[in-house]
Amino acid sequence: MTILIIDDSKTIRRALKALLEEAGYDDVLLGGSAEEGMELLKAQVTIHHRSLTDLILMDIIMPGLDGLQAVRALKDDPELTDIPIIVVSALDDEKKIEQAFEAGAIDFINKPVRKLELLARVRSVLRLKEEMDQRKIRETELAELNKSLENANQKLREISNTDGLTGIPNRRLFDEAYLTEWRRCRREKQPLSVVMGDIDFFKAYNDRYGHLEGDQCLRTVAQALLESTRRPGDMIARYGGEEFVALLPNTESTGAVEVAEKMRLKVLTAQIEHGASSICPYVTISLGAATICPEVGQDPSILLDYADRALYTAKSEGRNQVISIEND
Ligand code: GH3
Ligand code: MG
Ligand code: MG
Repeated sequence: MTILIIDDSKTIRRALKALLEEAGYDDVLLGGSAEEGMELLKAQVTIHHRSLTDLILMDIIMPGLDGLQAVRALKDDPELTDIPIIVVSALDDEKKIEQAFEAGAIDFINKPVRKLELLARVRSVLRLKEEMDQRKIRETELAELNKSLENANQKLREISNTDGLTGIPNRRLFDEAYLTEWRRCRREKQPLSVVMGDIDFFKAYNDRYGHLEGDQCLRTVAQALLESTRRPGDMIARYGGEEFVALLPNTESTGAVEVAEKMRLKVLTAQIEHGASSICPYVTISLGAATICPEVGQDPSILLDYADRALYTAKSEGRNQVISIEND
C-alpha cells in the first residue's frame, strides 16, 4: 500500500516515514507542501490513469495551500476523491479538525505523533481503503456482467424474431408489429395494408429440384421481396412455409397494389429456374393485397382474412398476379 505524507516540516516528514517504514510500510512518498503533494498525485493519474496512493497523511498548517484547502481540492477531484485522508494537527487546532472532517477527511492524528496511535489509525484506514477498492472491482465486474447479459438478451430477441432459413422477420415479429400498427392506424385514422404472397407450384419445385434447392429458392425470394419496399415502417416477413407477407402502415389500396406488383416483379426477375411450373419457366408468386382503416371493435384478423381471400383469388385466376380487396 502506498502512503503519501504531506507536511512542510522536513523533520516531521522524515519521522513519520521512519515510523511507517519500521512498521513495514515501505512505499511512503513525501510532499513538502500541499501543492507538491497534489502534483505528485496528478502525475500518478497521468501515468497510470488512476491514483496509486492509498492514504494521505496531511498536515493542516502549511504555507501556501493549507491542509484544509488541500483536503477540499482533493475531494473535489473525481480522480483523487477516493483517497482517504488523515489530517495531522496540533492539539489546539480543534476547529480546524472539525472543518477537516467537513471537508472530507476520514480521521485525524494529534501532534506530536505517537507511534501506536499512528499505526492503529493507518492500519484501520488502509483496511477500509482495501475494502472500498475490492467493492469497486466487484461493482465493475457486476456492471460488465450486466452489460454482457443485456447483449445476450438483445441477441436472443433478435434470434427469436428472425426466420432461421431466410434471415428476415418471422411470423412472431410480424404478428407483434401487425397489432401495433393496427392500433396506431386506428388511433390516427390511417389506412393499413397487408400483402400476402405465396410461391406458385412450390411443391412441384421441391419435387423437381429437392428440398435443399427449395430452401435456397425461399432465401432468394425473401431477398427479392425485401427490395420491393422502401418506407422505414414497412415490413416483409416469412408468414409460413412458402408464404410471405408485407405490412404497410399508412398505405392506401393503390400503394399496396403498387408494392404487391413490385413484389411480383422482383420475384419474377430473380429468374429462379422452375421447370415444373405450368405457367412460367421461372419461379413466380401470387399476391393478395388488402387495405382497411381499422375501427374500434373490429377484429384485427379481418384484414389478414381479406388479404388471404385476395391471394386465393390470385391463385384461382391463374397465379403470378396481384388481386386486391379494398374494404369500405
Ligand atoms: P400453389 O401454387 O397453389 O401455391 O401450390 P404450391 O405447390 O406452392 O402449394 P402447396 O401448399 O401445395 O405446397 C407448398 C410446399 O411448400 C409444400 C412444402 O413442402 C413446401 N415448403 C414449405 N416450407 C418449406 C421450406 O421451408 N423449405 C422447403 N424446401 N419447402 C417448403
Ligand atoms: Mg402455400
Ligand atoms: Mg404455394
